[in-house]
Amino acid sequence: MTANRAGTGAYSESVADDSDASVSRIEPSDTLSTGVEDPVIQSRNLDVFYGDTQALRGIDMDIPEKQVTALIGPSGCGKSTFLRSINRMNDLIDVCRVEGDMRFHGKNVYDDDVDPVALRRKIGMVFQKPNPFPKSIFDNVAYGLRVQGKDENVEEKVRSALERAAILEEVEDQLDSSGLDLSGGQQQRLCIARAIATDPEVILMDEPASALDPVATSKIEDLVEDLAAEYTVVIVTHNMQQAARISDKTAVFLTGGELAEFDTTSKIFENPESQRVEDYITGKFG
Ligand code: ADP
Repeated sequence: MTANRAGTGAYSESVADDSDASVSRIEPSDTLSTGVEDPVIQSRNLDVFYGDTQALRGIDMDIPEKQVTALIGPSGCGKSTFLRSINRMNDLIDVCRVEGDMRFHGKNVYDDDVDPVALRRKIGMVFQKPNPFPKSIFDNVAYGLRVQGKDENVEEKVRSALERAAILEEVEDQLDSSGLDLSGGQQQRLCIARAIATDPEVILMDEPASALDPVATSKIEDLVEDLAAEYTVVIVTHNMQQAARISDKTAVFLTGGELAEFDTTSKIFENPESQRVEDYITGKFG
């Protein structure tokens, strides 16, 4: 028996010892009533602190495979903190402390035997501001493949990633040009190509369209929906219409770092359970 579930590959260095596994194994009683079967990511009683400030309180969430899950809520309610705690990007913030579980295929990513670098290969990230490397378009996408020694058939893999990121047609004659010469929207799709080139299972997106004009935003939205055919996507957005358009599930965080509601997107937007969520969705605050 192993602690790792199918598909987690080598992100955990030591998986043979069952004694560790029992800590994080998912028990039937662990399931939430959100209708999510076989969740890829599960948070349980997750608290996150920055020094003395608590940013997230007791978050329980099941994130479904190959769907788009949107995280919405007013500024400062902990959306980005939750996103970053999925692939341990919060480790890079000195004052940040995490308690509780964040499980990927049933394994707590905060267990001692989890290598965060390997974890981030499985769970890639795209940021608010496009951040291509000062390299050619080709080298941007090939970068992760080369670092991981996956550089056989690199040209084919780069073209495939650019195609899946819906940018190949626009750049195929200029693969040697700098990624920095592209428009903002193209740069963001290049960053998405870079993130998917190494075949992650999950893509985390932190307001990926908020710095873009409406046309570029619409291309990113179409792309996010398409990506869910192959990847599990978790996206933070401050734009409720965007969440309603592109997501399957929506999590509403509210001030104080609480998860107020998590359900199918249609339920959240058409018939939310709580008055607080309805008030937020209808623009009464936030
Ligand atoms: P959101 O994404 O919903 O706007 P954040 O996750 O960015 O919210 O922030 C949640 C809370 O954590 C806020 O009170 C914010 O000030 C605090 N916070 C976020 N990042 C840091 C940090 N690096 N250091 C200290 N506090 C932080």
